[in-house]
Amino acid sequence: MANIDNTNFAGKKAIVRVDFNVPLDENGHITDDTRIRGALPTLKKILADGGSLILMSHMGKPKGKINMKYSLGQIREAVAEALGTDVKFVPDCMKAQEAAAELQPGQVLLLENLRFYPEEEGKPVGIDKEDPGYDEAKKAMKESQKEFAKTLAGYADIYVNDAFGTAHRKHASTAVIADYFDQDHKMPGYLMEKEVTAVDNILSDIKRPFTAIMGGSKVSTKIGIIENLMDKVDNLILCGGMTYTFAKATGGKIGNSICEDDKLQLALDIIAKAKAKGVNLVLGSDCIAADSFSNDAKTMVCPSDNIPDGWQGLDAGPDTINEFRKAILPAKTILWNGPAGVFEFDNFAGGSRAIAEAIVEATTNGAFSLVGGGDSVACVNKFGMADSVSYVSTGGGALLEAIEGKTLPGIAAVKGDK
Ligand code: AMP
Repeated sequence: MANIDNTNFAGKKAIVRVDFNVPLDENGHITDDTRIRGALPTLKKILADGGSLILMSHMGKPKGKINMKYSLGQIREAVAEALGTDVKFVPDCMKAQEAAAELQPGQVLLLENLRFYPEEEGKPVGIDKEDPGYDEAKKAMKESQKEFAKTLAGYADIYVNDAFGTAHRKHASTAVIADYFDQDHKMPGYLMEKEVTAVDNILSDIKRPFTAIMGGSKVSTKIGIIENLMDKVDNLILCGGMTYTFAKATGGKIGNSICEDDKLQLALDIIAKAKAKGVNLVLGSDCIAADSFSNDAKTMVCPSDNIPDGWQGLDAGPDTINEFRKAILPAKTILWNGPAGVFEFDNFAGGSRAIAEAIVEATTNGAFSLVGGGDSVACVNKFGMADSVSYVSTGGGALLEAIEGKTLPGIAAVKGDK
């Protein structure tokens, strides 16, 4: 299979699907550039060979419409700085023929957000799945998606997919475009290869004990991975907002804490399944409750299943942190996805910090630790611990689907086995 190392890009134009969906603050400044830095090895190798780059990405969810809040023009300078070279920008990804043709070796072109066109995701617009005519609309969209992908492919000689973060999507730029390149002219980037190897480390040849830590606000978005992990892990820590759904399901009082009322039975099923499989499920016994959703709220420590009305659990309590540490420190394989509290507020970042510290300690003692998903990555960056864990993944949904054992279309497409 062609790869970045065995390909000489001299005099070639490479169109690279990167994941530049970086978080921005209200002024359009990048708050975490992990994803840009992640793509650099691939991009620098192509430029060093004497190739030129056409970079394409999505940002946010503009839903097929132009929305300047999600313009990649905002990150052009940051990309140029990271690459150490000027970056040209084309404000319409379908109108880059001329700019691409003029590209000289060593030059870089960044295309505007692919998702300003509905064809990128390939979902018909303005029609619901239940509406009559949906199937027709979907068929028509698939056809125009092919045209869209073909236009992108026409800009370049070689296609590289280095966007692990979107590899679980069969979109125009992540999969369909690969149809327009032969096997010697399409390949995964270094980042993609590294991510796949890190997932392999977690899935095959697991060193035990294996502790997975799943956090975040909702159990519903993590259920697939939680169920899948149940067959693999020794300890499963569930933390963050999702735990209040469990506390309520088991008869607890959760005050104003976040809760998915339609997932109470699901929570009970997970508890039962963990028991049946002999998995040590850690849900945390206490929390830091706040009298409002704000960094400056009044706080108190209380049992996670006995939170007074008007108060909401926003972080893990001291006992819970000890319970987390007990499950993390002896582990030899660790996976962390999702924060243990509202870490964006400094006063409620303690639980997530404690998890990160315990992971670093276990890693120092020989564990393989994989941290993935936007928020957990933001946590280890915020705490300055990204270099002290084994691997920081740029993928959220893609990482979870890969760990669930699913084939990722973005990887299959460049390997030619989709
Ligand atoms: P998710 O999007 O489901 O992965 O969850 C990530 C978000 O969950 C972060 O923005 C956290 O601030 C939020 N979160 C974590 N714990 C809580 C909590 N106890 N209450 C409300 N939000 C939370």
